[in-house]
Amino acid sequence: MEALKNKITNQGIVIGSEILKVDSFLNHQIDIKLLNEIGQEFKKRYSSSEITKILTVEASGIGIACIVAQYFNNIPVVFAKKNEATTMDTSVYEADVFSFTKNKNYKIRTSKKYIKKEDKILIIDDFLANGNAALGLIKIVRQAEANVVGVGIVIEKAFQNGRKCIEKEGVKVESLAIIKSLQDNKVVFK
Ligand code: 5GP
Repeated sequence: MEALKNKITNQGIVIGSEILKVDSFLNHQIDIKLLNEIGQEFKKRYSSSEITKILTVEASGIGIACIVAQYFNNIPVVFAKKNEATTMDTSVYEADVFSFTKNKNYKIRTSKKYIKKEDKILIIDDFLANGNAALGLIKIVRQAEANVVGVGIVIEKAFQNGRKCIEKEGVKVESLAIIKSLQDNKVVFK
């Protein structure tokens, strides 16, 4: 997706050799025009699949998923929660996730009310690194005995092994920008 790649090239900040910061258009300030183009592109890539719900994880995934959902006939968006709240249902699906950026484990949870056996789910997230967030979401969908149609990622870092782990689960991955390396402060696309 050219518009996304241009944004990454012009505004992305490389941290070390593994992290890309995109706070100016995706992770802090959000470029809505770009998100609409992202939504259209995911719709194109999953046009032949029946999808009943989008699943993501808080916080960065929510804004993206909500705009993407508008291109899939306004289907509901469910986001897995990271913090246990007193208002959260006690009947939940949950999975352990190791955070690449925070270097620690956390749990993600969704209420059993919002994922049903008959659901066909598209998982959406901002980044794909080692695949832990996406694998946690796949685990949750499978606990509900629902169907994972695929994973849609805005920015994939191909030098990490997220894609391999997800495909090993038999799940399709579509990424809109694929980064080959982040060496010497430069983003190199695949
Ligand atoms: P994974 O679970 O695939 O290892 O990492 C994906 C999650 O970690 C994403 O939800 C994203 O929030 C965060 N993440 C991983 N790599 C990056 C990165 O280079 N930049 C940013 N901003 N977030 C990242």
